[in-house]
Amino acid sequence: MTNAAPTTQFLCTQCGGELHPDEGQLFVTCPFCSSSVYLDKKKVVFHWYLAPTMDEPKARTFLTRWMAGNDTVKDLDKKAQPVGVNFEYFPMWYFKRKVGGNEQIFLEPAAATSVSELKRLALPAGDLRKYDHQADADATPPTVPLDAAQRWLQSRGVQPTEIAESALVHLPVFTYKYRYKDQTYTALVEAATGKTLANLFPAKDETTYQAVAGLTLVVFLILAAIPLFSAFFDTPEAIGLGMLICVGLGIPAAGVFFALAAWVAAKV
Ligand SMILES: [Zn+2]
Repeated sequence: MTNAAPTTQFLCTQCGGELHPDEGQLFVTCPFCSSSVYLDKKKVVFHWYLAPTMDEPKARTFLTRWMAGNDTVKDLDKKAQPVGVNFEYFPMWYFKRKVGGNEQIFLEPAAATSVSELKRLALPAGDLRKYDHQADADATPPTVPLDAAQRWLQSRGVQPTEIAESALVHLPVFTYKYRYKDQTYTALVEAATGKTLANLFPAKDETTYQAVAGLTLVVFLILAAIPLFSAFFDTPEAIGLGMLICVGLGIPAAGVFFALAAWVAAKV
Protein backbone atom coordinates (compact mmCIF):
# COMPACT_ATOMS: atom_id res chain seq x y z
CA MET A 1 0.00 0.00 0.00
CA THR A 2 1.29 3.44 -0.86
CA ASN A 3 0.32 6.51 1.01
CA ALA A 4 -1.13 9.21 -1.26
CA ALA A 5 0.12 12.04 0.93
CA PRO A 6 3.76 12.84 0.12
CA THR A 7 5.95 12.52 3.14
CA THR A 8 8.93 14.76 3.54
CA GLN A 9 11.97 12.66 2.93
CA PHE A 10 15.33 13.88 4.08
CA LEU A 11 18.39 12.36 2.44
CA CYS A 12 21.93 12.86 3.65
CA THR A 13 23.91 15.26 1.44
CA GLN A 14 27.01 13.10 1.78
CA CYS A 15 25.85 9.48 1.45
CA GLY A 16 22.20 9.75 0.42
CA GLY A 17 21.12 7.80 3.49
CA GLU A 18 17.60 8.40 4.73
CA LEU A 19 17.44 10.69 7.75
CA HIS A 20 14.70 10.42 10.34
CA PRO A 21 14.84 13.61 12.36
CA ASP A 22 12.75 13.99 15.49
CA GLU A 23 9.95 16.51 15.38
CA GLY A 24 11.47 20.00 15.17
CA GLN A 25 15.01 18.71 14.96
CA LEU A 26 17.12 20.81 12.60
CA PHE A 27 20.72 19.89 13.30
CA VAL A 28 21.21 16.22 12.49
CA THR A 29 24.15 13.83 12.45
CA CYS A 30 23.74 11.20 9.72
CA PRO A 31 23.60 7.73 11.35
CA PHE A 32 25.30 6.17 8.30
CA CYS A 33 28.26 8.45 7.54
CA SER A 34 28.16 10.78 10.59
CA SER A 35 28.01 13.92 8.43
CA SER A 36 26.56 16.97 10.13
CA VAL A 37 23.64 18.33 8.19
CA TYR A 38 21.06 21.04 8.61
CA LEU A 39 17.44 20.50 7.61
CA ASP A 40 16.02 23.56 5.94
CA LYS A 41 12.32 23.42 5.02
CA LYS A 42 13.17 22.50 1.45
CA LYS A 43 16.62 21.08 1.49
CA VAL A 44 19.25 19.19 3.44
CA VAL A 45 22.58 20.97 3.49
CA PHE A 46 25.94 20.33 5.08
CA HIS A 47 26.49 21.90 8.45
CA TRP A 48 29.99 23.19 9.14
CA TYR A 49 31.58 25.27 11.80
CA LEU A 50 34.74 27.25 12.11
CA ALA A 51 36.74 26.43 15.22
CA PRO A 52 37.84 29.44 17.28
CA THR A 53 41.59 29.88 17.71
CA MET A 54 41.44 32.48 20.47
CA ASP A 55 39.84 33.26 23.80
CA GLU A 56 38.20 36.54 24.75
CA PRO A 57 41.32 38.41 26.00
CA LYS A 58 43.08 37.54 22.75
CA ALA A 59 40.06 38.64 20.67
CA ARG A 60 40.08 41.93 22.59
CA THR A 61 43.66 42.61 21.43
CA PHE A 62 42.37 42.47 17.83
CA LEU A 63 39.54 44.86 18.73
CA THR A 64 42.01 47.26 20.40
CA ARG A 65 44.33 47.14 17.38
CA TRP A 66 41.41 47.98 15.08
CA MET A 67 40.35 50.86 17.37
CA ALA A 68 43.90 52.21 17.38
CA GLY A 69 44.13 51.88 13.58
CA ASN A 70 43.50 54.33 10.78
CA ASP A 71 39.81 53.64 10.12
CA THR A 72 38.54 54.86 13.44
CA VAL A 73 38.69 58.21 15.20
CA LYS A 74 41.95 59.06 16.95
CA ASP A 75 42.49 57.28 20.31
CA LEU A 76 39.24 55.29 20.10
CA ASP A 77 41.09 52.44 21.82
CA LYS A 78 41.55 54.70 24.86
CA LYS A 79 38.28 56.65 24.73
CA ALA A 80 35.78 53.84 24.03
CA GLN A 81 34.02 52.59 27.14
CA PRO A 82 33.37 48.83 27.00
CA VAL A 83 29.73 47.94 27.67
CA GLY A 84 29.78 44.18 27.24
CA VAL A 85 30.94 41.21 25.27
CA ASN A 86 29.14 38.09 24.15
CA PHE A 87 30.33 34.93 22.41
CA GLU A 88 28.27 32.93 19.95
CA TYR A 89 28.51 30.71 16.93
CA PHE A 90 26.76 32.90 14.41
CA PRO A 91 24.96 31.14 11.51
CA MET A 92 25.82 32.04 7.93
CA TRP A 93 24.60 30.60 4.67
CA TYR A 94 27.55 29.50 2.61
CA PHE A 95 27.37 29.24 -1.17
CA LYS A 96 30.04 27.95 -3.47
CA ARG A 97 29.96 29.07 -7.09
CA LYS A 98 32.13 27.45 -9.74
CA VAL A 99 33.00 29.66 -12.67
CA GLY A 100 35.45 28.33 -15.25
CA GLY A 101 37.28 26.10 -12.79
CA ASN A 102 37.43 28.85 -10.14
CA GLU A 103 35.57 28.56 -6.88
CA GLN A 104 33.95 31.57 -5.33
CA ILE A 105 32.47 31.63 -1.84
CA PHE A 106 29.52 33.80 -0.86
CA LEU A 107 28.18 34.32 2.63
CA GLU A 108 24.82 35.64 3.76
CA PRO A 109 23.78 36.05 7.41
CA ALA A 110 21.35 33.33 8.45
CA ALA A 111 20.07 35.31 11.45
CA ALA A 112 19.40 38.94 12.25
CA THR A 113 22.54 41.00 12.76
CA SER A 114 23.35 44.70 12.90
CA VAL A 115 26.76 43.93 11.42
CA SER A 116 26.03 42.93 7.82
CA GLU A 117 29.76 43.33 7.13
CA LEU A 118 29.92 39.69 8.21
CA LYS A 119 29.18 38.72 4.63
CA ARG A 120 32.55 40.20 3.60
CA LEU A 121 34.47 37.72 5.72
CA ALA A 122 36.90 35.59 3.78
CA LEU A 123 36.59 32.12 5.24
CA PRO A 124 39.96 30.52 5.78
CA ALA A 125 39.90 27.70 3.21
CA GLY A 126 40.10 24.20 4.60
CA ASP A 127 39.31 25.32 8.13
CA LEU A 128 35.66 24.38 8.05
CA ARG A 129 34.91 21.38 10.18
CA LYS A 130 32.00 19.07 10.65
CA TYR A 131 29.66 20.79 13.08
CA ASP A 132 30.26 19.65 16.61
CA HIS A 133 27.23 19.41 18.88
CA GLN A 134 29.39 20.58 21.77
CA ALA A 135 28.90 24.01 20.19
CA ASP A 136 25.10 23.76 20.61
CA ALA A 137 24.94 25.89 23.76
CA ASP A 138 26.56 28.85 21.98
CA ALA A 139 25.12 28.27 18.50
CA THR A 140 22.48 30.71 17.30
CA PRO A 141 19.89 28.83 15.23
CA PRO A 142 19.26 30.15 11.71
CA THR A 143 16.13 32.26 11.31
CA VAL A 144 16.64 33.23 7.67
CA PRO A 145 15.46 30.42 5.36
CA LEU A 146 17.80 29.14 2.69
CA ASP A 147 15.63 30.38 -0.19
CA ALA A 148 15.60 33.92 1.26
CA ALA A 149 19.41 33.83 1.29
CA GLN A 150 19.35 32.58 -2.31
CA ARG A 151 17.22 35.57 -3.29
CA TRP A 152 19.75 37.94 -1.66
CA LEU A 153 22.45 36.18 -3.59
CA GLN A 154 20.49 36.60 -6.79
CA SER A 155 20.27 40.33 -6.10
CA ARG A 156 24.08 40.28 -5.97
CA GLY A 157 24.12 38.75 -9.46
CA VAL A 158 24.52 35.06 -8.61
CA GLN A 159 21.95 32.73 -10.17
CA PRO A 160 20.76 29.70 -8.15
CA THR A 161 21.80 27.38 -11.02
CA GLU A 162 25.43 28.52 -10.63
CA ILE A 163 25.60 27.34 -7.03
CA ALA A 164 27.57 24.14 -6.72
CA GLU A 165 27.20 23.80 -2.96
CA SER A 166 25.10 25.32 -0.20
CA ALA A 167 25.83 24.85 3.47
CA LEU A 168 25.15 26.24 6.89
CA VAL A 169 28.25 27.49 8.67
CA HIS A 170 28.49 28.54 12.29
CA LEU A 171 31.21 31.14 12.80
CA PRO A 172 32.79 31.88 16.21
CA VAL A 173 32.15 35.53 16.94
CA PHE A 174 32.78 37.84 19.89
CA THR A 175 30.32 40.75 19.84
CA TYR A 176 31.63 43.84 21.62
CA LYS A 177 29.48 46.78 22.62
CA TYR A 178 31.13 50.05 23.53
CA ARG A 179 30.16 53.64 24.12
CA TYR A 180 31.77 56.69 22.57
CA LYS A 181 30.35 60.23 22.88
CA ASP A 182 26.94 59.07 24.18
CA GLN A 183 26.41 56.53 21.42
CA THR A 184 26.59 52.76 21.63
CA TYR A 185 28.46 50.90 18.90
CA THR A 186 28.90 47.25 18.00
CA ALA A 187 32.03 45.58 16.67
CA LEU A 188 32.57 41.89 15.96
CA VAL A 189 35.75 39.91 16.23
CA GLU A 190 35.70 36.66 14.27
CA ALA A 191 37.48 34.32 16.65
CA ALA A 192 39.36 32.18 14.11
CA THR A 193 41.37 34.90 12.37
CA GLY A 194 40.78 37.95 14.60
CA LYS A 195 39.20 39.88 11.74
CA THR A 196 37.30 42.84 13.23
CA LEU A 197 34.08 44.00 11.59
CA ALA A 198 31.69 46.88 12.16
CA ASN A 199 29.05 48.69 10.13
CA LEU A 200 28.95 51.86 12.20
CA PHE A 201 31.89 53.22 14.13
CA PRO A 202 33.33 56.61 15.11
CA ALA A 203 35.29 57.36 11.94
CA LYS A 204 37.98 59.93 11.34
CA ASP A 205 36.51 63.29 10.42
CA GLU A 206 37.57 63.69 6.80
CA THR A 207 36.07 67.18 6.53
CA THR A 208 38.84 68.64 8.72
CA TYR A 209 41.49 67.18 6.42
CA GLN A 210 39.66 68.48 3.38
CA ALA A 211 39.36 71.98 4.93
CA VAL A 212 43.12 72.15 5.59
CA ALA A 213 43.93 70.88 2.09
CA GLY A 214 41.48 73.37 0.51
CA LEU A 215 42.83 76.32 2.51
CA THR A 216 46.42 75.39 1.58
CA LEU A 217 45.51 75.27 -2.11
CA VAL A 218 43.78 78.68 -2.06
CA VAL A 219 46.63 80.44 -0.22
CA PHE A 220 49.30 79.06 -2.58
CA LEU A 221 47.24 79.95 -5.66
CA ILE A 222 47.04 83.55 -4.40
CA LEU A 223 50.78 83.64 -3.67
CA ALA A 224 51.58 82.23 -7.11
CA ALA A 225 49.36 84.93 -8.67
CA ILE A 226 51.42 87.79 -7.19
CA PRO A 227 54.41 87.49 -9.62
CA LEU A 228 51.94 87.06 -12.51
CA PHE A 229 50.11 90.20 -11.41
CA SER A 230 53.35 92.14 -10.99
CA ALA A 231 54.30 91.18 -14.58
CA PHE A 232 51.54 93.53 -15.79
CA PHE A 233 53.68 96.48 -14.67
CA ASP A 234 56.34 95.18 -17.03
CA THR A 235 59.33 96.57 -15.13
CA PRO A 236 62.15 94.40 -13.76
CA GLU A 237 61.67 96.00 -10.33
CA ALA A 238 57.95 95.10 -10.18
CA ILE A 239 58.58 91.49 -11.28
CA GLY A 240 61.45 91.14 -8.83
CA LEU A 241 59.30 92.50 -6.01
CA GLY A 242 56.48 90.11 -6.98
CA MET A 243 58.83 87.14 -6.84
CA LEU A 244 60.22 88.33 -3.50
CA ILE A 245 56.72 88.60 -1.97
CA CYS A 246 55.73 85.19 -3.40
CA VAL A 247 58.79 83.36 -2.10
CA GLY A 248 59.05 85.44 1.09
CA LEU A 249 55.47 84.60 2.09
CA GLY A 250 55.39 81.12 0.48
CA ILE A 251 58.16 79.64 2.60
CA PRO A 252 56.69 80.64 6.01
CA ALA A 253 53.20 79.72 4.73
CA ALA A 254 54.44 76.22 3.82
CA GLY A 255 55.75 75.89 7.37
CA VAL A 256 52.45 77.06 8.86
CA PHE A 257 50.37 74.62 6.76
CA PHE A 258 52.74 71.76 7.46
CA ALA A 259 52.35 72.41 11.20
CA LEU A 260 48.56 72.69 10.81
CA ALA A 261 48.37 69.37 8.93
CA ALA A 262 50.51 67.69 11.59
CA TRP A 263 48.28 69.13 14.34
CA VAL A 264 45.11 67.87 12.59
CA ALA A 265 46.64 64.42 12.08
CA ALA A 266 47.50 64.27 15.78
CA LYS A 267 44.11 65.46 17.06
CA VAL A 268 41.44 64.12 14.71
ZN1 LIG B 1 25.27 10.22 5.48
